[in-house]
Amino acid sequence: MSYIKGLVCKECGDDYPKEPLHVCEFCFGPLEVSYNYDEISKSLNRESIEKRDHNLWRYAELLPIDEPPLIGKEVGFTPLIKADNIADALGLKELYVKNDSVCFPTLSFKDRVVSVALSKAKEFRFNTVACASTGNLANAVSSLSTSGNLESFIFIPYDLEMPKIVGSTVYGTNLIGINGSYDDVNRLCSEIAGKFGWGFVNINLRPYYAEGSKSLGFEIMEQLGWRVPQHIVVPMASGSLLTKIWKSIKEFEKLGLVDISETKIHGAQATGCSPISTAVKNDWEIFKPQKANTIAKSLAIGTPADGFYAMSVIKESGGWSDDATDEEIVDGIKLLAETEGIFTETAGGVTIAVAKKLIDEGYIPRNESVVVCITGNGLKTQDAVENSVSKPEIIDPNLDEFEELYKTIKSNDQGGIHDAVSKNTHTA
Ligand SMILES: *Cc1c(COP(=O)(O)O)cnc(C)c1O
Ligand SMILES: [Zn+2]
Repeated sequence: MSYIKGLVCKECGDDYPKEPLHVCEFCFGPLEVSYNYDEISKSLNRESIEKRDHNLWRYAELLPIDEPPLIGKEVGFTPLIKADNIADALGLKELYVKNDSVCFPTLSFKDRVVSVALSKAKEFRFNTVACASTGNLANAVSSLSTSGNLESFIFIPYDLEMPKIVGSTVYGTNLIGINGSYDDVNRLCSEIAGKFGWGFVNINLRPYYAEGSKSLGFEIMEQLGWRVPQHIVVPMASGSLLTKIWKSIKEFEKLGLVDISETKIHGAQATGCSPISTAVKNDWEIFKPQKANTIAKSLAIGTPADGFYAMSVIKESGGWSDDATDEEIVDGIKLLAETEGIFTETAGGVTIAVAKKLIDEGYIPRNESVVVCITGNGLKTQDAVENSVSKPEIIDPNLDEFEELYKTIKSNDQGGIHDAVSKNTHTA
């Protein structure tokens, strides 16, 4: 039983068959998967979902596969954390962290989209898959293509963070660094995709790939007890995740799984690459492409493919958008770590920093419920915070030395251990 009707052009509404296609032949608009919701409503309800395994396939009818999933069977269902410490710090009443920094297997939300794209690639009988990546996608495609027995070619800007490079090559993929920005990589990949018969997860498989992001939204609503929060703050690179979280809410509403809501979707970018947030803040009809210069490399897309649609969702939902400087990103990473014990990458720092601004500016009222989407893991971008966190104190294996150090730590009234330790370093 297939629940997928086919592909449909987002611009002119023309119908296309379920094939590895991504642009409309007539108007060049992007194609999107459409479903038969009447059929879906017959098998999908709260009770049926709750009986299923804890991974993203518990919402399989709303994902674009026709066969049981073949790749990434255990991916998804990450924790939703009621984050009272950081809520206090930000002056909010009800704040949750959706923690995809611990997504299986490569510690970012890209594991979701890639599971769906590669399962679809298997249905389409591709033997080789490929992608253009800002880092996390490279990790997810490398890992999941390896476990799924597919060959892979991965294209990245040459200057990505080392953990994101090693976190791809370790699986034995073909990783190709391009002398240029992500936008250059993406342009080259479009040419390669036209020439080689590969399944490019974010080019000819993009309509299927992008649907995987809806699972983040489905989980938020189920984990809140079949409820939609009043605000969701989402980091934006291409803008796809933000539009799919919106689609996930509209689908759950259509199927009666949640009440009709008035959720506001807010988009977060880095100031050094902020085409979407700049357009929203200036009330422009279209965004202006930018040259990226930010530590949030995973979000550094100067010409975002779904930027226009992300702007529309933000507007339609009544949300807003803002951006964070490199310094604010580091502060955001540290705030989440020091309050909730969650170490996120630079993209998460962007999300926290922008959430803070939206609260201060009044776009998020302090008594309303908020979910922030933490999409990647801090172990992959340690360079960003290396010089902004304390260094360990080194002592000899000797009780007297520790007692001396302990006294210094304790005699420091205001500071925690870190302040005391650094003070001791200076007087030693
Ligand atoms: C790719 C990525 C995003 C944003 O994805 P888009 O759907 O392209 O907007 C957010 N966070 C992290 C960590 C990512 O790797
Ligand atoms: Zn069209």
